[in-house]
Order: sequence, then structure tokens, then C-alpha cells
Amino acid sequence: MPHKCAVATCRGNYKNGPKVAVFKFPNETELRMKWIRSLRRKDGFQPTKHTRVCELHFRSDEIIREIEMYDEKSAKLIKAPISRPRLKKGCIPSQFPDGPSYMSSNSVSRMSPEKKKARLEEKYLEKAIEESLKMKERYDNERSFESLIEFNNCLEHQILETFWTTVHTENSTMLLDILSDPAPEIQKS
Ligand SMILES: [Zn+2]
Repeated sequence: MPHKCAVATCRGNYKNGPKVAVFKFPNETELRMKWIRSLRRKDGFQPTKHTRVCELHFRSDEIIREIEMYDEKSAKLIKAPISRPRLKKGCIPSQFPDGPSYMSSNSVSRMSPEKKKARLEEKYLEKAIEESLKMKERYDNERSFESLIEFNNCLEHQILETFWTTVHTENSTMLLDILSDPAPEIQKS
């Protein structure tokens, strides 16, 4: 069961309330006090380690919902949602919409198809990111080695400039750039 929101009027993660991402109270004393004050709850309210404030009380630009990953193969920046949104540093709850319509069950059901769609998109993106991670792993495997045998394996996956001649000996692998004209000579190694 996800944590309920500590804001008095908020139904975040309650049985008939909206499903929301929640955030822990910060540990840093001053910021923590600001959070407590921002909630305007009765005197003596003290958050425990289980107390959470939900995403509805932060501006959207204060919440990190996606990560950027660099996909080396396609040389593209991939954006993907993270399963647990995070807060940017130093944010304080500031959004407390007034009025009874705030989070009525009506508005929740109206949001539902959109949410479904968002969830589908998220699934799709999760798959894409999984693929990208696998690709990254493969990419790394093809480029990391701890022994000569592994190095030779890596070498097989690399497309080398055509001037390189590979020479294998028992305990070494040489890459030679041999100039054959006028007489054989190693240019680079
Ligand atoms: Zn809330």
C-alpha cells in the first residue's frame, strides 16, 4: 500500500483518491521545518519516517520524472520516465489548491483514460529503456576485457581501419601498420 499524503485536505493515495507519487520529509533541519510549516497542520504535527507529501503539492518543474540517457549506438539522447519521481533539491510544498472540487472523485475518473494512456506509454518506454540498457551492456562487453583472450574476442567485434594487420602470438596481440613499399616497414604499432 503506497503512503498516503500528509496534507490534511488531500486524498492522495487514499482508497478513493488519486494514485500519486509521494516524497519523504527532508532530513535537513531547516528545510524540514519549512515543509512542516508549509503544511499548516495543527500545532505539534511532527512527521515520522513514514510521513509523506504527495506530488500534487509541488510545481511540476520541481519534480524529476524522467532521466536522460545517452545511447552510444544511435548517438541519441533517450528520455525515459523513472518509476519513482524525485524532487529537486530544496523544494518546499507550495501547491494547496482550495475548494471542495479539489480532487473530487469526478475529476479523478475524468483523468482516468489519460492516466491509462500515460501508463501504456510508460510501459512502452520502459521496454525501450530496457532494450537500450541491454544494448549498452552488449556494447560494453564488446569493449571491456581482462585477459588477452577476452581482448582478442573484443577485437573480433571491432571494425578496424583497413591498414591494421593483426598478429597473434602466444602471449600478445599486435596491431601493425605495415608499409610494404618499397620495403616492408612498420609504420605504426
Ligand atoms: Zn497530497
